[in-house]
Amino acid sequence: MGWKTLDDFNLEAKRVLIRVDINVPVENGQVSDATRIEKIAPTVLEIMKRGGFPVLLAHFGRPKGRVQRDLSLLRLVPVLERVLKCDVIFVADCIGPAVEAASAILGPNQVLLLENTRFYAQEEQNDPTFVAKLAKIGDIFCNDAFSAAHRAHASTEGLARILNACAGRLMEVELKALETALGDPIRPVVAVVGGAKVSTKLKLLGNLVEKVDHLVIGGGMANTFLVAKGINVGTSLAEQGMAAIANDILVKAVRCGCEIILPKDIVIARKFEANAAHEICLADSCPNDAMILDAGPESISQIFRVFEVAKTLIWNGPLGAFELEPFDAATNAAAQKASVLTKEGTLVSVAGGGDTVAALNKAGAAAGFSFVSTAGGAFLEWMEGKELPGVAALSTA
Ligand code: AMP
Repeated sequence: MGWKTLDDFNLEAKRVLIRVDINVPVENGQVSDATRIEKIAPTVLEIMKRGGFPVLLAHFGRPKGRVQRDLSLLRLVPVLERVLKCDVIFVADCIGPAVEAASAILGPNQVLLLENTRFYAQEEQNDPTFVAKLAKIGDIFCNDAFSAAHRAHASTEGLARILNACAGRLMEVELKALETALGDPIRPVVAVVGGAKVSTKLKLLGNLVEKVDHLVIGGGMANTFLVAKGINVGTSLAEQGMAAIANDILVKAVRCGCEIILPKDIVIARKFEANAAHEICLADSCPNDAMILDAGPESISQIFRVFEVAKTLIWNGPLGAFELEPFDAATNAAAQKASVLTKEGTLVSVAGGGDTVAALNKAGAAAGFSFVSTAGGAFLEWMEGKELPGVAALSTA
């Protein structure tokens, strides 16, 4: 899929409407983590440097179409000013004459921040009249919010249909990384899918078996696959009712030539708590009163062997109950191995979605990956093979 970038436009004197994701965590009224704001800086600064006028459009929380003062973007002004090192002008609306006037008189080294787009119900409805009002504020639309691209909202999808549109620098990096991992990857490709339940990742597993050469299944969901193979998993987290579906995935994998890698050995305990007494046994030897909390050393070696022959890795979900030591061992070891191989240049590694970022950070391995996506829902939908509306609307195809 192709898309335009900032390189395709002359930005001189142009008002550029940038859809950003600055839905940052706030504790006691203060922004507690400004990472999302720091990540949009390259796009905003480049637009200013090239003579354009950035106008930021964003949502914050879930006001569900009503004005909620505690979800106003006003409180982000000081943080934006600190990160962008420029004046940030705020207007307490995102459409209308006041907004249009503010955007028309923006000067050099100034950024306009508009109020939470979700204060209007028409935002999530992708209402054409609302889209037209937003479009009056800018000359060019630049979408830099991959993490909101799975929503077909006015500011993520509608605008791209009526204004000249491009991907921002952050969106560009994300799209390139994802394209490298699943769109047109260097083979062999290995996917690691872990986490709690098969039921939440069915579509993802179904899509991956068609696309990757090896699929490592770990965490609680591996237990359901063991059940599908007729193996007793004791008191482990497992979805007995999903065994038939897990079996269908195993059959589909054979048909697609995808090797499924399940744990050969397991770490078991009697209690779901940190430092619980534990032992290692073969995957088919879990006692009735024990639960599987991690993959064992032989399973880790097997994962290492696959990583060593693979050229591309895509990862979502931990291989065990990683929040509880020592049941983070397999997740840590595999993450560190991927990081080393990436640094050595033999592996392109892309990871993302929910707990994965936390797990890779805990393993001290996130920085070693080629790309770690913080875009929870959008990353998962992309792994499921779905077309993301916000990305599709940018397509030049
Ligand atoms: P998910 O959100 O689906 O990626 O699942 C992540 C959660 O799965 C984490 O909280 C892990 O502790 C949990 N998990 C992974 N493996 C196991 C396991 N063997 N038993 C229980 N919970 C697990």
